[in-house]
Amino acid sequence: MIDITTSKCIFCSKREGTEMYDAKIFHVTKRSTSGSTRQVAYEVKEFEIPICSICKETHKASEIKQVKIAFKYLITGIIAGIAAACFAIFLHDASYWCFFWFPLLGGMLLTILGNILGLNIYKEECRNSNVYPYKPELMNKHPLFAEIIKKGWSFKQPSA
Ligand SMILES: [Zn+2]
Repeated sequence: MIDITTSKCIFCSKREGTEMYDAKIFHVTKRSTSGSTRQVAYEVKEFEIPICSICKETHKASEIKQVKIAFKYLITGIIAGIAAACFAIFLHDASYWCFFWFPLLGGMLLTILGNILGLNIYKEECRNSNVYPYKPELMNKHPLFAEIIKKGWSFKQPSA
């Protein structure tokens, strides 16, 4: 059903695909709600995507940049949380629980921000190298899969 007829790398459409990515594509068959639990049932198809070594390297390098940024933001959030807790406790007599909640909250908030920025960096790095990014939501927009996406399939794993 997912027929990749080309042997060319689908991320640059120029070079020969010398390696393969194992990819999965999902199709929701049933969603149900009973009480407060939601359930989702879906079909999965596995297939292989041809990729060249240059695109693969670009994906890997961009991914490392993405993770680094997310991590940097996480650490910044925790440090800012500790600083804010010190401020609250020593100057405003706040509860020592601030040492728990502030870094937790700061870490979570900045992780969300770091993930958004990291994803943008990933996309930008790929774009600069003329390599199509390998992320589920973007694979859904790849012209090669337009037909199958139209039929309700997605590279994103469905969640309940
Ligand atoms: Zn390529």
